[in-house]
Amino acid sequence: MPRRLLPQQYIDGILSGDRLILSRAITLTESRLPSDQEIAAEILQAVLPHTGFSLRVGITGVPGVGKSTFIEAFGSQITAQGKKLAVLAIDPTSQRSGGSILGDKTRMDNLSRDPLAYVRPSPTGNSLGGVTASTRQAILLCEAAGHELVLVETVGVGQSETAVRNMTDFFLLLMLAGAGDELQGIKRGIMEMADAILINKADGENTAAAKRAQADYRNALHLFPPAASGWTPEVMPCSALTGTGLPEAWQMLERYRQLTQQNGFFTRNRQDQNLSWMHETIRRELEDSFYGNPRIRQLLPDLQRAVRSGGLSSLQAARQLLDRWRKE
Ligand code: GDP
Repeated sequence: MPRRLLPQQYIDGILSGDRLILSRAITLTESRLPSDQEIAAEILQAVLPHTGFSLRVGITGVPGVGKSTFIEAFGSQITAQGKKLAVLAIDPTSQRSGGSILGDKTRMDNLSRDPLAYVRPSPTGNSLGGVTASTRQAILLCEAAGHELVLVETVGVGQSETAVRNMTDFFLLLMLAGAGDELQGIKRGIMEMADAILINKADGENTAAAKRAQADYRNALHLFPPAASGWTPEVMPCSALTGTGLPEAWQMLERYRQLTQQNGFFTRNRQDQNLSWMHETIRRELEDSFYGNPRIRQLLPDLQRAVRSGGLSSLQAARQLLDRWRKE
């Protein structure tokens, strides 16, 4: 197959649910080549009327909490209802080290083979901003290909949670019973973003501890100010291994969708997300254009030295560089 198809071939392929073509279109969104980005933008614009109808759910939790086991079990429950599911991932560790926390190991074996599921690993080799941008596009492309539920998974260790929160409708935090919040590396800010906390591994000897943790986290969540969505965050035990609590988790998502569609938050939140995506894109592209400019790259080291030595104020240096860039 040629490396690139014609834009119309991508568009037709995506709309007919062709997974190979969907994959190739997502690869275009991950490319740094301006020509690829342009085609990706054209495809996105064309399929836009077919996007927006899915429920977008962000999932986070520290490594080992059971994210992939949960997604595999929960996702299979969704596809068993005949619904199409997409699983995307944002793994900032894969950018830094080449290795990744979410893992290069084959995860979600069953889902990967399920014709109703589309599993896509985290894009690599880009900044978090770049990864966020391509994942946002991937969500829309998956929707155009008919996926009704889009799960975006990330690790609970960094800034990627905020990025995922800002591109999804519902934010799910997986936690464990019996380990303190600090031990689990979950920052208060992440708990505050959560629409639900699922206490995973609530099975066997762990069942009672999970019940206690449920009460503790409920109390903790009550201390946070009420959310703009009108939704009160829920805490539930579940077991990704035995499947306990998974149907309840799905019912909860349905309740959330119903409530926020009725009170108008669902649509308003997406409109806000779209606008903030526009501004983020502008900021990112301005920055790329500035720092990627050959003249600026040439001038920067001298000016940095001058600022460091105190010979030039930061403000003055920034102004000089920006003036120069505007003249380019
Ligand atoms: P991730 O790093 O968050 O994706 O975690 P994994 O899904 O890879 O799970 C880490 C380990 O916990 C694996 O050995 C799983 O089998 C185990 N695990 C996941 N969910 C459960 C659960 O609900 N109950 C029990 N007992 N073990 C689980």
